[in-house]
Amino acid sequence: MGLLSLGTPLPWEEAKNYADYVRNQGINQFLSIYHKLKDKQKDCLLWGDEVEYMVIAFDEENKNAKLSLRVFEILDELQKEEEAALKNLNSDEVIKTSWKPEYGGYMLEGTPGVPYGGTLKELLQVESNMKFRRQLAAKYMKPNEVPITITSFPNLGCQGQFLEPHYEPKGEASRSLFVPDQIINPHARFQTLTANIRKRRGSKVAINMPIFHDTKTPKPFIDPTIPRNRNLFPEDKEADEGMALPDHIYMDAMVFGMGCCCLQITFQATNIEEARRLYDQLANMGPIMLALTAAAPIYRGYLSDVDCRWNVIAGSVDDRTKEERGLEPLKNNRFIINKSRYDSIDCYISTDNTLKPEYNDLDLVYDKEICKNLMDNGIDELLARHIAHLFIRDPLVIFEESLEPKEDASDHFENIQSTNWQTMRFKPPPPNSTIGWRVEFRSMEIQITDFENAAFAVFIVLLTRAILSYGLNFYIPISKVDENMKIAHKRDAVLNEKFWFRKNVFENEKNNIIYGNENLDNDGSDSKSMQQPNGHNYTDKNPISVEDEYEQMSIDKIINGSCNKFPGLITLINRYLESINIDIESRCILGKYLEFVKKRAKGEIQTTAKWIREFVRSHPKYQEDSVVTQEINYDLMKIIEKIQKGEANVPELLGNFKV
Ligand code: ADP
Ligand code: MG
Ligand code: MG
Repeated sequence: MGLLSLGTPLPWEEAKNYADYVRNQGINQFLSIYHKLKDKQKDCLLWGDEVEYMVIAFDEENKNAKLSLRVFEILDELQKEEEAALKNLNSDEVIKTSWKPEYGGYMLEGTPGVPYGGTLKELLQVESNMKFRRQLAAKYMKPNEVPITITSFPNLGCQGQFLEPHYEPKGEASRSLFVPDQIINPHARFQTLTANIRKRRGSKVAINMPIFHDTKTPKPFIDPTIPRNRNLFPEDKEADEGMALPDHIYMDAMVFGMGCCCLQITFQATNIEEARRLYDQLANMGPIMLALTAAAPIYRGYLSDVDCRWNVIAGSVDDRTKEERGLEPLKNNRFIINKSRYDSIDCYISTDNTLKPEYNDLDLVYDKEICKNLMDNGIDELLARHIAHLFIRDPLVIFEESLEPKEDASDHFENIQSTNWQTMRFKPPPPNSTIGWRVEFRSMEIQITDFENAAFAVFIVLLTRAILSYGLNFYIPISKVDENMKIAHKRDAVLNEKFWFRKNVFENEKNNIIYGNENLDNDGSDSKSMQQPNGHNYTDKNPISVEDEYEQMSIDKIINGSCNKFPGLITLINRYLESINIDIESRCILGKYLEFVKKRAKGEIQTTAKWIREFVRSHPKYQEDSVVTQEINYDLMKIIEKIQKGEANVPELLGNFKV
């Protein structure tokens, strides 16, 4: 969630007057960082995952599973333990975990204490570190509380009780019909963010996800649980005035999206060029991994007809005014903007010569003045446009204290950057640190077990190594990546849908050469290094038209390949692993993760979304009407708790893999 600066946040009426100031300062800060650090070379691979947890409180008497709002006490203890551990470290030790608050007052974010390095040995520690994090978090919970990794909490915003302690849904920040403000992290930043998005937009956010029509779901489905006659806030009438669509699950607050959990991975690249390259290549994996990790089929107590969270979050922070959404002529605003601040990326940014201009085929909305300023100050056009695109947005939370001028800061830049929640994030180094240029992969949904989360984290890390080793080229026109994002949301997309993908991931014949051991640095330790040489510059000898470069493939084909036609990403990763001669034991562990991803892609084991949907539909109390009752929710949370502890046998979800 970015840095949590402390201070006094300005309400929107005041904050909006400083928007240009923050943007100008932000651009100056970016320029200063860029010019100081653009030539930074030979940073090593460092990477880290972020796992988000919900704290569930079981009420055994009433058979209810609720979200516990005690996170602040828990986080306080975790951070104290972190500080104590730091003090007692021997010189050869590193701290194992790090904890941060998240948007929901029931959410925790845990990361490794320090990023992992570029050795295989560290890949093997991911799962045990995740397990350790979960145990540590649980240590500070009450006996009836558990940390659970689920993407969307089924009963959030339902009638009845879903929070511990319970509060009625009335709150100035969200003005929601369904949730109280106590559900939001009490830090002023999050409350202000919520209120300012609503005020900037000029209404509450309106998220409508299609209902899953089961055999007894009414048609049309008009949600009987939406309060129709409340008069607490002027916004209360929005639902009746058309914001709540028939046949949809209507949600009216930021927490429905930002209160979802996900799995993110950040990588440090060797230099800025490599970071820009990874940003582009991984962008195309965004929708593929979203579909493969789909885990969110239930919202506000109803089965929906989608399997993942992305569009819900996009809607939950959509601060665009009517003018910006193209519903009214531009008068007070400057741009018609086609996407929410939380959405897929709109442009590729690599300096690599495999990036053809045709791939950037979206009509990029960007601030022309900012772009010119950046280019006048030595930034190339692609990067200038990327930054000028991020900077079409207003800063949402401005701390009064941050308006004082200061040297060597990045706070104003980060203000805009970190509230552009896109599928990928290109992260410049913070000023005055040893950290290098990084990219963050942000589309994956969180899985129930540490095993699954480790498997996806390891898969993505190894994929970046294969991309860099073999100079893989995943480019397709970026509009096709957007199409893939839509497809990824469909129910059982992994099984039934096809995604645009590049046919020849080797740029040209020359790239078919597989790099051997001589290209791999060894870090001198007993474990293999995954650091890669960089700078593949290939020229295209036989240009073919862009339209012929890609086709629609199943996820099975993309991941597992198809007889000589397409190698499959797992094959490429395996080849990479063979090329670095790893020991049998490590190979075996990594092989297990890859095997899991392979089976998920083949449909041999279910996505979390499918498994949850089936669990609900086969529950004895389910009425075939799309309704997920308190009791079904309770049973679901109970079995999830067992699964994550390895105490339930669920071959449809985990095959024969042991957690
Ligand atoms: P954000 O808040 O932008 O998502 P965080 O600061 O929470 O990012 O860090 C995200 C992940 O990045 C964590 O897993 C952390 O371990 C990892 N990380 C920290 N420093 C580096 C680095 N220099 N290179 C790569 N990853 C890093
Ligand atoms: Mg974070
Ligand atoms: Mg993150």
